[in-house]
Amino acid sequence: MHILVSAKGEKDSDFSWTNDRELVFPVFSCGNCLRDPEAGCGCGRSFMGIESGKLTTTAVIVDSPITEDLVTAEFVQEAAKRGWPARIATEWAEEMLSAAARFAVGDVVERRLDVISTRELVG
Ligand SMILES: [Zn+2]
Repeated sequence: MHILVSAKGEKDSDFSWTNDRELVFPVFSCGNCLRDPEAGCGCGRSFMGIESGKLTTTAVIVDSPITEDLVTAEFVQEAAKRGWPARIATEWAEEMLSAAARFAVGDVVERRLDVISTRELVG
């Protein structure tokens, strides 16, 4: 099954404070980023590492033996630690898995609010 894990982008505007290759959440976006994800603090164009709780601007598609139920369970468990409802974690798991399913293994993706797309290859 395809899943999204943290990556390290190579553009000047990229940052990555997550652990290497951890499962990622989308993340709540602040008001500034909701108005313009390019101009805000970066949360509107970031994924959050499920273990580290830190942000990264890129994720990569990998093939994993993990099941959809396990991914959802991990999301729900991590969300609960942060006081977020299970319903949101379940939606995020569906969103991340359906995004991952659309791309090929090795594709690097980025996020702009609700839209996850493959990164244009530079050069
Ligand atoms: Zn923000």
